[in-house]
Amino acid sequence: MSEFAGLVAVVTGGASGIGLATARLLAGRGATAVALDLEPRVDPPMHGVRADVTDDGSVRAAVAEVVERFGRLDVLVNNAGIGAQGDVAANPDDEWLRVLDVNVLGMARVTRAALPHLRRSPAAAIVNTGSIAGWAGLPQRALYSASKGAVHALTLAMAADHVREGIRVNAVAPGTVDTPWVGRLLDAADDPADERAALEARQPHGRLVSAEEVAGAVAYLAGPLSGSTTGTVLAVDGGMRTLRLRPR
Ligand code: NAD
Repeated sequence: MSEFAGLVAVVTGGASGIGLATARLLAGRGATAVALDLEPRVDPPMHGVRADVTDDGSVRAAVAEVVERFGRLDVLVNNAGIGAQGDVAANPDDEWLRVLDVNVLGMARVTRAALPHLRRSPAAAIVNTGSIAGWAGLPQRALYSASKGAVHALTLAMAADHVREGIRVNAVAPGTVDTPWVGRLLDAADDPADERAALEARQPHGRLVSAEEVAGAVAYLAGPLSGSTTGTVLAVDGGMRTLRLRPR
């Protein structure tokens, strides 16, 4: 498949996990795929550009570098994100601000820098990485859930604002995905194997979601086959949301 041939795709957080799988898939389908990350080490044919999504100057410089080097920007995947544990009282203000700065403002900053270039593309699409946590009321994830609920709402607002400019905006809402992030959580657990089994059991389909499965959904939402789809949040969660909404 070469549905992204001739297009340039930027993936924030593209050096690890979901972002890396997405950059790899988009490159495999013909895109010039550029990972924007704190440590943008990626293998060819992908490209890496350093950026910190919490720093407006860094974001602007990175987007300018992408357009300078590759000539255009067609697809933006706003994927960089960090986690937080605990109930609503567990984190002090500065931790709330730190997580919201990456997970929500980070998307706004990169989008702001990318919009002038996306407006010039005949195939402009933005895909944001939300989470089942933005919908489902997961225990001990208050701050993270608030950040991802904001991502879902931001996705709808951006879709409304930019549809007439020909820019589509959608999001994916993954369940628990087998990435280095989850690996770090497991490593920190008292019994990593037990914790992994608990995470798998929480997924109705009985296993963790793979990063490639999320990448596939992102590629669909970024590509021409979803050309009439905007303002959608697509669950990639093994049925987690459906099951939680169903009375037992
Ligand atoms: P990961 O930790 O493997 O990768 C995240 C990447 O983001 C890293 O390369 C990191 O360097 C980069 N990053 C972090 N802060 C950054 C910043 N300030 N500027 C630029 N880059 C930054 O994580 P992942 O599991 O692949 O998660 C990616 C996205 O998917 C996140 O938005 C996360 O909230 C979301 N998500 C993950 C899961 C899961 O279970 N892993 C589930 C739902 C949603």
